[in-house]
Parts: sequence; C-alpha cells; structure tokens
Amino acid sequence: MTTLTNPFEIARETLRLLATRRIPPTPDNYLTLYHEISGSKPAKEDFPEKELRSLATALPKSSPDQMRLARQLDEAVKAANWEEYTNRLAQFVSTLAEAQKLAWAELIGNLIRQWDAKHIGLTAARKRESLDHLLAGAGANPETLFNRLQSLIRSWGQGKENETQVDGEAIPEAPSSPPPAIVNPQHSEDLLPELRELFAFTLETAIATQLIESPQLSSDAKLLAGDIRGARKLEQMQDFLARLKRFAFKLELLAEDQAELRRSLLNLLRLLVENITELVIDDNWLHGQIDIVREIVDKPLSQRTVDDAERRLKEVLYKQSQLKTSLFEAREAIKQMLAGFVDHLADFADATSEYHDKIEGCADKISSANDISELGSVLNEVMHETRNIQLNAQRSRDELRSTQEKVKKSEARIHELEAELETTSDLVRHDQLTGALNRRGLEDMFNKEVARAQRHDTLLCVGMLDIDNFKKLNDSLGHDVGDQALIHLAQVCKEALRPQDTVARFGGEEFVILLPETPLEDGIVALTRLQRELTKKFFLNDNEKVLITFSAGVTQMLPDDTQATVIKRADEAMYKAKQTGKNRVVSAP
Ligand code: GH3
Ligand code: MG
Ligand code: MG
Repeated sequence: MTTLTNPFEIARETLRLLATRRIPPTPDNYLTLYHEISGSKPAKEDFPEKELRSLATALPKSSPDQMRLARQLDEAVKAANWEEYTNRLAQFVSTLAEAQKLAWAELIGNLIRQWDAKHIGLTAARKRESLDHLLAGAGANPETLFNRLQSLIRSWGQGKENETQVDGEAIPEAPSSPPPAIVNPQHSEDLLPELRELFAFTLETAIATQLIESPQLSSDAKLLAGDIRGARKLEQMQDFLARLKRFAFKLELLAEDQAELRRSLLNLLRLLVENITELVIDDNWLHGQIDIVREIVDKPLSQRTVDDAERRLKEVLYKQSQLKTSLFEAREAIKQMLAGFVDHLADFADATSEYHDKIEGCADKISSANDISELGSVLNEVMHETRNIQLNAQRSRDELRSTQEKVKKSEARIHELEAELETTSDLVRHDQLTGALNRRGLEDMFNKEVARAQRHDTLLCVGMLDIDNFKKLNDSLGHDVGDQALIHLAQVCKEALRPQDTVARFGGEEFVILLPETPLEDGIVALTRLQRELTKKFFLNDNEKVLITFSAGVTQMLPDDTQATVIKRADEAMYKAKQTGKNRVVSAP
C-alpha cells in the first residue's frame, strides 16, 4: 500500500476505514487510524504539559535538593521529555528515601547520646520539655521534624562542648553529618533553609520558653517562628522583619520591667536580712515574717505584689519592734509590782505573827494580873501594838495602790504609743481603719505609677471621691457606724476595680483612685460603675440597708503634672459634682 501524504486524502481514507471496519468514530479512534495511514507518530501536543507543570509546581521547594529537582522537572516539561521527567522524579525519590533512612539512624543515635550526656545548665527535665515542645510543633512533616531535631541536638551538644563559651559566639560544627536537605551547600543561599529553621527554632524554643510569665509575648514568638518558616516571598519577609522589630521592642520593655522587679526583690531581701538579728528573739514573730515572704514567692511575681509586700513588711517590722519594747516595759512593771507586793506580804505576815505573839503575851498578863494598875500597862501595850499593825496595813495598802497606779500608767503608755504609731509613723503605708493606702502610701504608689506610665507611654487616670452627706450619717447612726461605712466603701472599691488600680484614703471620707493604662473616658466609666456597684452591694447596719453615695472628680495625668496639681484638678471636678447635685461623676479635661 502506498503511503498517502496529502492531509485531505489521509483524512478521507481514515473516514472510509472507520466505516468499513465498523469502528465507532471517536476522536481517539480517528487519531489512531490517521497515524496508521500516514505512518506518523502522535504529535508533541499529546505530552500532558499543563498537568506535569502543575505537579512540579506543587512539590515543596524548601531545600536546595528540592529546588534542583523542580528545575530539572521544569526543563523536562519544556523539552516535552516524558522519559526525562519520570527518571528525575524516580531518582529523587529513591535517593531521598535512602539518604533519609541513613540520616535518621544517625540522628537517633545522636539524640540518645546527647540525651544521656551531662550539660551545664541543662537538666533532664529541661531537655524533655524542649523535646516535647518540638514534637508537638513539628506536625506531620518528617523533614521539618528532622531539621528541628538536628538543631535541638546541636544546641545541646553546643552547651556541652562550650561550657565556658559566652553567648553569641560561633556555633560549632554539628556532631553529625548534615541532613539530606543541605548536602554540600555550594552558595550562601543554600544555607538559607537551615538559617531559617535555626531562626524559627530560636524563637520557638529558646525565646518562647523564657517567656513563661508573659504568655502573650511567648505566643508572639511562636507565631513569628511559624512566619519565618513559611516566608518565601519578599513581601512576606518584609512583613516578618517589621513584626520582628516590634517584638524586639516589646522584649526590651519587658527586660526593663524585669530589671525593676529584680531591684525591688533585692530591696525586700535586704530589708529582711537587715532585720533578722532583731527577729530571732521571738520565734513566732520570725515565722510571721517568713510567711509573708513565702506568700509572695508563691504568687506569680509582679511589680505590684513585691511593692505591696515590701510596704507591709516594713510596717509590721516597725510596729512589732516598737510594741515589743513597750510590752517588755509593761512586763517589767508588773514584775516589780508583784515583787513589791510579796515583800509587803512577808513584812505584814511577820508583823502580824509578832502582833499575835505580843497579844497572846498580853492575854497571859491579863489573866495573871492581880490588880487594876497592872492591867493599865497591859492595855497600853495592846493599844500600841494594835496601832502599829494598823499603820503597817495602811502602808501596805498605800504601796499597793501606788504600784497599781504605775501599772495603769504603763498600760496607758502602751495605748498612747500604739495610737502614735498609727498616726505618725513614717513607715506605715496603710490606713488602719479601711486597709486602703494612706497619704504616704498613695505618694509612693503615685510615683511608681507615673514612672510606669512614662516608661510604657500609657495614660494614667486619677479620681477623687467624697461620700455624700456623711456628717448626717454620723449624726443619725453614730460615729462607729460611720466607720463601718468607710470600711464598706473601701471594700467595694477594691472589689469593683482592677487589681492594678490603687485605692487610697486621702482624708476623712475622701478617697483617691489611680487607674493605670486608662484614658479619661474609661476612667469615667470605671467610677460610674463603682457608683452602681455601691447601690448593689449596699451597706447593712443592724440588718437595715443604708445607702451610701459619693461624688467624684476624674482627670487625666498630663506631662507637666505633679501629684499636687493632678489631685487638685480631680478635687475641683469633685467639687463641681457636689455643686451640681451630688452622687455623680464629673471629669476635668
Ligand atoms: P458632702 O456631701 O458635702 O460631702 O457633706 P458631708 O457631710 O459628707 O461632708 P462634711 O465635710 O461636712 O463632713 C464630713 C464628715 O466626715 C465630718 C467628719 O466627722 C466625718 N468623718 C471624717 N473622718 C471620719 C472617720 O474616720 N469616721 C467617721 N465615722 N466619720 C468621719
Ligand atoms: Mg469631705
Ligand atoms: Mg462628704
């Protein structure tokens, strides 16, 4: 049969054969017959270029080997070379599997060695923690797991081999051969995946685990680790860098806070140590102090708890040392009184037994007397002895009285001293009635909050509140009930405000409130909420509800403000609240 060359003839012949051979006229059957008649091969278009290209695109390219494979597959697609494509892919998969198998064995061997080895500053628990963390974070990707495990083992080994090494020095060679992903890096870019992985590992394991007390920053670090792992495009990198910068800035702030915390802790310890010599006299007392410190250590550390503990410790120390002296004096006075009394009792007993003897002698004399003149002298003797014993008893009574007097005076001195301590001590920071801070405590706290607000560039709100018609309450229900009302108000304030807010008794029935990180509008909201809270948690006197209301002024701390100017502004706003009907909150711009 002659081979047809004219496409029209080939087409006509193809149709004729389809009909005579009774083959269904599908496009595939037409094509097969067409090539049979023309003696040609299927054209290049049959190569599934689109599909293969999309397969090549979908494969991961996170290591130099994977990138090389992608390049080779791309070339095979361009050349429409199916054989080349198949070979490259098969070769890659088999070497990968082979290499992976070998490296895993080595990696696990290394892991066991480093697990058993001793590393300075690295406990077994710590190793377990970072391994658990790594396993939880690696997901189902074996390559990620491999790379991270390798980094982890390397960091342990580094600790051991460089016990005296300063942070930040060069990382030594890895103890094992590099993982398959980075075989023989030729260019610095080839190290990029490893660098990226190390970066992510540092953020996720080294940094995040250091931030246990700042969960937000810790999760930021983990998010950043995820970002750098996935960042491939320039924009992603730029975004990562911007967020890394912000993260570093926050870390810096945290470091400052922690430095201050450390300073406060040291002061606290110093205070304890300085006073320990005084404390050893009394065991119970010492235990009380240690309990306070234990309580602080048990709670998560924050600037506020430490500040508070320091203030309380100072107060207790000061008061106890004063009271100890007073009690010692009182005890001495009582001892002296008892000693004196016993002396007198002995004297008195001697005197009375002598008296009895003498009187007995007199009685004998009386019974044996023969005439009245004899009786006269005996009577004189009896009178004399009786007067003596009377004088003696009176003297004892007088001396007893004077000793009692002395003890009373000494007791009064103790009370006086206590009262004095409460009002004039330089160290007492809390109001004795309500437990809120007093003026001195407020001053300390104010300075701390202003410094903190400046450091963090946040807003500080100051409120002043004054109970309405308090005099009337005192007059109608008595001063003691007034006192209870003040205690109640302070309690409701503490419950309704946030832990970081400060409540201080400024004077009689006036309180100052510090609200850190609060803009003016939120300050108004907080004080209004406090008013509402006071109507819900009402004050009970003899089971009767007594409604307490207050008027408040609230203002924002400004850069040029001192404590006096800002409190004056809040006070003026409070005065306005009083003038415009009481039981309201007025803000000062
Ligand atoms: P306003 O609504 O204008 O504030 O009237 P007010 O009666 O609350 O104010 P005023 O300043 O006239 O009276 C305050 C009263 O608070 C007078 C004082 O006896 C009483 N006070 C001050 N400190 C204490 C305290 O510690 N306990 C008690 N029970 N009363 C106190
Ligand atoms: Mg007042
Ligand atoms: Mg008042």
